[in-house]
Amino acid sequence: MIERELLETALSATSEGVIIASIEAKGKPSKIIYTNKAVETLTGYDSQSLVGSDCNLMARLTSDTTVTEQEITAALHAGESIRYTKQSNTKSGDFFWNDLCISPVLNNNTLTHFICVLHNINEQVLYQEKIELQNSLLEKKNSQLDNMATHDFLTQLYNRRFFDRELKRLCAFHQRYQTPLSLAFLDIDYFKEYNDFYGHSAGDDALRLVASQINDDFSREADICARYGGEEFVVLSASDSDESTFLNHVETVRLRIEELAIPHEKSKTSDVITVSAGIYVGVPMRGVSPSYFTEEADRAMYEAKHGGRNQVAVARHMRLISG
Ligand code: GH3
Ligand code: MG
Ligand code: MG
Repeated sequence: MIERELLETALSATSEGVIIASIEAKGKPSKIIYTNKAVETLTGYDSQSLVGSDCNLMARLTSDTTVTEQEITAALHAGESIRYTKQSNTKSGDFFWNDLCISPVLNNNTLTHFICVLHNINEQVLYQEKIELQNSLLEKKNSQLDNMATHDFLTQLYNRRFFDRELKRLCAFHQRYQTPLSLAFLDIDYFKEYNDFYGHSAGDDALRLVASQINDDFSREADICARYGGEEFVVLSASDSDESTFLNHVETVRLRIEELAIPHEKSKTSDVITVSAGIYVGVPMRGVSPSYFTEEADRAMYEAKHGGRNQVAVARHMRLISG
């Protein structure tokens, strides 16, 4: 049998907090009969004030946890240990995380005491919290990067690269299922004159307003609005699958842009900012490059320009380009 003095020295030497408490008669709180040096260090309470005190140890061990006094008592009577993590407070009001292990102590096969070992895991928990914070910042950064890779910085519409990729993907899909795809090309009228007269920053504001109007009017899941370049925008729609519906839809956008009433003194078409648009609706054909859709809609847009601007034109002639 180990000498009591040696046992006490060993218990004082360990950095794990050790509390031994007696099991009292039913309904009475258990009493602390021993705490080692590490408990003092962890909690700030000295052994003398803890041993024999009337503090309800079980209530303290279970406060702010999902573990109940009944569960601990049941485990101890079943001869089993119970282990859980808990945030405890110190005498000075600070907090620390600890991993608790409560085990039964039997005397002649009768449960008379229990021993509670406290392992300070504050550093691990704080480290874990730091890692979680870094991970969430990283996730945020990644989603910002994803957004930057697919969106236009100025207007927040999709960018040209994303649009080209989607056009290719949707052309393949619609070609396979032989369903029509609709594309509109919209270009602001006399925008160079607008910039020259109102300044580049006002030009940027106007681009944002026009872009947001297009995006608001083509907001369905199957619609993709992108800034194609400069003052040119494209809309790819899988939902407006017939020409007259799509034409009406683009015509509404054209009108709404005019109704934004952004003054444009230098426009030869109107006294506000307007757009000219071209649309193409068709079933993608095998062996035909997806850029066929943009080229046809762009050509129609130029017809709208020549027709007097602030209008929508429809591409009607099929021209095969191998790709
Ligand atoms: P049209 O009616 O024939 O379309 O004439 P336009 O003046 O709109 O066309 P043009 O291609 O001659 O000029 C486009 C102008 O768009 C030139 C450039 O100053 C302006 N632009 C292009 N990108 C930006 C941008 O990011 N910000 C601003 N403020 N202006 C831009
Ligand atoms: Mg242009
Ligand atoms: Mg233009």
